[in-house]
Amino acid sequence: MTKYVYDFSEGSKDQKDLLGGKGANLAEMSNMGLPVPPGFTISTEACRAYLGSAGEGQPGTMPEGLEEEVTEHLEALEQAMGRKLGEPDDPLLVSVRSGAKFSMPGMMETVLNVGLNDRSVEGLAKQAGDERFAWDSYRRLLAMFGKTVLGIDGELFEGALDGLKEEVGAESDLDLDAERLRALVETYKGIIEEQCGEPFPQDPRAQLDQAVAAVFDSWNTERAVLYRRQERIPGDLGTAVNVCSMVFGNCGMDSGTGVAFTRDPASGAQGVYGDYLQNAQGEDVVAGIRNTVPLAELEKLDKKSYDELMEIMQRLEEHYRDLCDIEFTVERGKLWMLQTRVGKRTPAAAFRIAVQLADQGLITMDEALERVTGAQLAQLMFPQFDPKAERKLLAKGMNASPGAAVGKAVFDSATAVEWAERGEQVILVRRETNPDDLHGMVVAAGILTSRGGKTSHAAVVARGMGRTCVCGADDLDVDVRVGEFRTPDGTEVHEGDVISIDGTTGEVFLGDVPVIDSKVVRWFEGDEDAADDELVAAVARIMEHADAARRLGVRANADTPGDAARSRRFGAQGIGLCRTEHMFLGDRRELVERLILADSDEEQEAALSALLPLQRQDFEEILEAMDGLPVTIRLIDPPLHEFLPGFTELSMKVAVAEAAGKPSKRDVRLLAAVRRMHEENPMLGLRGVRLGVVIPGLFTMQARAILEAAAARIKAGGDPCPEIMIPLVATVQELELVKADVVEVAGAVEDEQGVKIPFKVGTMIELPRAAMTADEIAESAEFFSFGTNDLTQMTWGFSRDDVEAAFFSTYLEKGIFGVSPFETLDRQGVGALVRVAAERGRRTRPDLHLGVCGEHGGDPDSIHFFEEVGLDYVSCSPFRVPVARLEAGRAAAAAKAD
Ligand code: ADP
Ligand code: MG
Ligand code: MG
Repeated sequence: MTKYVYDFSEGSKDQKDLLGGKGANLAEMSNMGLPVPPGFTISTEACRAYLGSAGEGQPGTMPEGLEEEVTEHLEALEQAMGRKLGEPDDPLLVSVRSGAKFSMPGMMETVLNVGLNDRSVEGLAKQAGDERFAWDSYRRLLAMFGKTVLGIDGELFEGALDGLKEEVGAESDLDLDAERLRALVETYKGIIEEQCGEPFPQDPRAQLDQAVAAVFDSWNTERAVLYRRQERIPGDLGTAVNVCSMVFGNCGMDSGTGVAFTRDPASGAQGVYGDYLQNAQGEDVVAGIRNTVPLAELEKLDKKSYDELMEIMQRLEEHYRDLCDIEFTVERGKLWMLQTRVGKRTPAAAFRIAVQLADQGLITMDEALERVTGAQLAQLMFPQFDPKAERKLLAKGMNASPGAAVGKAVFDSATAVEWAERGEQVILVRRETNPDDLHGMVVAAGILTSRGGKTSHAAVVARGMGRTCVCGADDLDVDVRVGEFRTPDGTEVHEGDVISIDGTTGEVFLGDVPVIDSKVVRWFEGDEDAADDELVAAVARIMEHADAARRLGVRANADTPGDAARSRRFGAQGIGLCRTEHMFLGDRRELVERLILADSDEEQEAALSALLPLQRQDFEEILEAMDGLPVTIRLIDPPLHEFLPGFTELSMKVAVAEAAGKPSKRDVRLLAAVRRMHEENPMLGLRGVRLGVVIPGLFTMQARAILEAAAARIKAGGDPCPEIMIPLVATVQELELVKADVVEVAGAVEDEQGVKIPFKVGTMIELPRAAMTADEIAESAEFFSFGTNDLTQMTWGFSRDDVEAAFFSTYLEKGIFGVSPFETLDRQGVGALVRVAAERGRRTRPDLHLGVCGEHGGDPDSIHFFEEVGLDYVSCSPFRVPVARLEAGRAAAAAKAD
């Protein structure tokens, strides 16, 4: 038969799956010999069995054998404690505590003092020699049990307590004497009976059993389900239940309860951090019912307990080799440990603590590297609101998409567009967004909504666009028709008022909070002064180790010399994707129009020759900025009509001119071309290599510009390493055709310039067919770069610009995928294609160089996949380069550890 119950002495910290986090750590502390009140844990397995037996709207039944096992463990506990649960003379009392594998704050509240009833409360009073303490404990049980187990609105109990305090003129709960508390118990019992139609269960074991069932049931409450969805915690883990003998922080001023951290979880500074509250129990210390004192004060109040606590904290930190957070209670001068876990921390603290622990010799640098994440580094790199600046906090919502944005509040998309066009910074404020808001979201500096979570439309689209977003700030009462929102304290913000939103913390401020550059970025940019800061020094140490550890190269996606130079400062080892599209925009558009309108080869030739020197200049500058490092240049990819004027606009112009009797011949021809080139699905139309095949002069002109630029660099003493990349290849024949042209041009340029030019020709793998025929394609391609944006679009049949705004939030909500496949590579589908293409390509050409240049190249989870598949490098936006370096190092360290 399955064993469901484990004594604290039977478990260890590595059994979180079975015992939950709290249970596993209580077991660990017990076995370390720390003063943990004895108890036992009912496993998550029991919870899963219980929940599995529940029908539609029906509660579950406890698995067979559980009741007997609980009895056995309870008896053993009673024996050890020399008391029986709820016994009238000298009762054993226990707490019933939930504890899942992952901490889920607010899932279920703990029930303390289980075992008290009308008789045992007297016994407790007698044993403790303290009436007040006993009645205080009983009233707490009634309120917690009533609220948590019986589902009664907690306000009823709080209201009764407040009423009593007011009635007797008590300032705090401490001013209520035994008599008053006894009366409060009567009131509470009345509330329970009235709300449930049944009295509070006097039988101690019934109290225990009901509390255990309540913990199991709490796994599926709405807020638990919501929390799990947001934190991506699987829904089928279940929770464990910890039954722990009570110790009392509420039996006088020589008792109390507290929380502590072994280091400051906000900054990472070393020292004593925590709060302590005398004569209090359980959550009192965090509930703000009375003013707590800083933990350091405990030294004056109770030196013995304080010293012991300090010693234990140090032991815990050395044992867990990490920042621990701790709950403890002092009962009449005796210290008890009630909980510990590896504590959550801010990104800044994560970096500092990792390096401190490595310096102390507690962890290796490889481990330090695993203790931080690319997401944390990214957070440290965003511009921040100046922490010294004055600010008025209006609300706090979900930190949906990081960044610090300031702008005038606007309440609809049209206004956002209109104001942005006249150069205003705007924050689009909506209750929630839908696809109609897209235009506004595009032009806004930030997006703020009062509803919806991290998978809401606003959050998904904002992240996709890299736009700052705070969502679900539900304290804000947004009225889009009037164009204003209100906060609970009555502050009104009208259209045009300036607000500031922090997408990293979820905070919303009134007015213009000044933004400062992150120190970490200043250091990456080469500002030496920044290195004096301890945080920056920690980041530097970890980056250095990541660079030494990683196998994957990191390049940048950069189209301009400025971006190239910046990414180089950020540590890029070349350019993985230089797009050439923008080189056809602006003033050069007219040359593209001439190219398209050309009636003869000569005209076409002329347009191309006019473009050539411009392009050559662009490439020369980029090759110079990346001297000595590879620069992968992608030949023109989007359909040509994207460079022509819009159809509607142009037809209006022509119609107006015709009405006036003087249409421009050029406009008429242009209109015909626009009409001719219109495509229903441009993404699947004449673009990429297809353009190169249909208009050969275009690609050869680009190739010539690249090669001439390289020749010029060589003559100037430089070391250019251009890699010419052909987009959207589906079959090797396309590539062969285009490559032959490029090679021919190269020969010609070399002859003309009298220099030998090192260059490669390769292709993007961004179509499923290319991936599947990679062995053939590799016969012609000298390198592959996975264009995972298009590959994702083509594999899923998603047009990203359309689907993200239209229905991704629904897909995420319904759990069709946990994260957008455009954010994190879909390993099963798109990833399988990458894997196949890598294998097949290398079968043909063992030294085939493999990289990735989609946005996934900067995504932590995806980077770990690319490491696994054995790609040579990832390429991402300049700003993500440090993140990719860090994650590539972490992936290598993790691979080594396995
Ligand atoms: P949470 O998961 O919210 O931290 P806990 O189960 O840790 O809930 O308990 C809530 C509060 O009750 C904490 O302050 C904890 O220290 C306290 N507590 C839990 N069990 C006991 C006990 N046996 N004796 C005294 N205090 C307890
Ligand atoms: Mg706790
Ligand atoms: Mg593409």
